[in-house]
Amino acid sequence: MCFYDQHRFACGDWKWGTFRDHCNREYRRGETCGMKLIYVTIPSGQKCKLCEKIDTKQRRRAAEVERINRWQREGNKFRASIDKSFQIIRALDMETEELSCERARRLQGIGSAH
Ligand SMILES: [Zn+2]
Repeated sequence: MCFYDQHRFACGDWKWGTFRDHCNREYRRGETCGMKLIYVTIPSGQKCKLCEKIDTKQRRRAAEVERINRWQREGNKFRASIDKSFQIIRALDMETEELSCERARRLQGIGSAH
């Protein structure tokens, strides 16, 4: 078991940081044994990259919904724009879903890393 910094983000996600110390078992060989333990946890005021990307997509989605609501009050004038906006929202939803899966996969990967 070897010791690493742990970076903890505002969203609750975390990642491994800098290598700090060998465990007794591997010290002589000067290698890391691959089993990671937390040396110190470094809190970050920011969300992780993936959560930030998800937030950005959510904000863009909300802006599109807002636009659609505005256009719909104008009757049929903006039919084409509304359709286009719905397409954008569908695309954003798919991208958000992919990011969420990636986030889940990564957390699993970190948790079982040996
Ligand atoms: Zn996150």
